[in-house]
Amino acid sequence: MLVVMQHGAAPAEVDRVVDVITAMGYEARPMPGAQRTAIGIVGNDGRVDGSRLAALPGVAQIIHVTQPYKQVSREWRPESTIVTIAPGVSFGGDEVPVVAGPCSVESERQILESAHAALAAGASALRGGAFKPRSSPYSFQGLGKKGLSHLALARSETGLPIVTEAMDDEGAHLVAEVADCIQIGARNMQNYSLLKTVGRIGKPVLLKRGMAATISDLLLSAEYILSEGNDKVILCERGVRTFDTSARNMFDLTAIPTVQKLSHLPIVADPSHGTGVRERVAPMARAAVAAGADGILVEMHPHPDAALSDGAQSLFPEQLAELVAQLRAVAAAVGRTVRQPHPVVTAGR
Ligand code: PEP
Ligand code: MN
Repeated sequence: MLVVMQHGAAPAEVDRVVDVITAMGYEARPMPGAQRTAIGIVGNDGRVDGSRLAALPGVAQIIHVTQPYKQVSREWRPESTIVTIAPGVSFGGDEVPVVAGPCSVESERQILESAHAALAAGASALRGGAFKPRSSPYSFQGLGKKGLSHLALARSETGLPIVTEAMDDEGAHLVAEVADCIQIGARNMQNYSLLKTVGRIGKPVLLKRGMAATISDLLLSAEYILSEGNDKVILCERGVRTFDTSARNMFDLTAIPTVQKLSHLPIVADPSHGTGVRERVAPMARAAVAAGADGILVEMHPHPDAALSDGAQSLFPEQLAELVAQLRAVAAAVGRTVRQPHPVVTAGR
């Protein structure tokens, strides 16, 4: 259960509610937010009688939350949250933005070429990791800070907002200087200290599902970010590990309607990591939009065969353009739109 305080409720009124909850034998978890403070009640097995709390001064509303995650749940906020990462690029509304780009930033030239190809294909944002979580310590680890400055240049040349990954607390602050949206990768979905850090930074976050995470685990991880006062969270289905060796991961399409029922947060699909195989990416992207995904995250490389990471699942630029055109048709069939490319803000080259 949640006790939602009125906007501007006095600290003493919050304390009073906490005291009453404690006296009722439960644990109170105050969650201060930008708009309102809510006090979560934990330690209850069943439904709590909220009538005593509802009558206290400063209390606006009592919400019964049945899920272990609270602020992330639709019970907490029935209307869908729209997360805007840059002017005109929003997730969770009618639009279905396509975020495209290489797995990793490899060089200035490679990311600029990628950005121009993404824009020409109709993507709304550019992806690309400067800090790369690789399964092997001997694999390419990303260009780090230099990669971030290449991404900044790509944005200034194309106007495309940047989605790029942070792997640790220190990196999160560096990434936040450049990124329009901070990606938390599958391997870090349960890095709770990183989740709290990006919660405090306050920029939009793209939170990827861990490769062995349940939907509930994913939503609880998102709760860490919201509990720090940042509700600009976009969830991402990117496939889970299974016993089947025919695919890198099993793309869990059902996660999309499942999450949308349980949570007000937008959820995008990453069919690249979800399949690991180039020829399977477009079918799964089309299926994801048909299933109601709030966006698509897709890997595209100007020269996939020379990619330093994930080349086998990266689309060629012309395949991305064809896919975006198809996604436009699928989106229209389900009452959504894939936006047209916006004009280049500055042409540097
Ligand atoms: C990526 O987006 O390139 C990536 C590393 O994805 P994931 O964290 O889903 O493996
Ligand atoms: Mn990748």
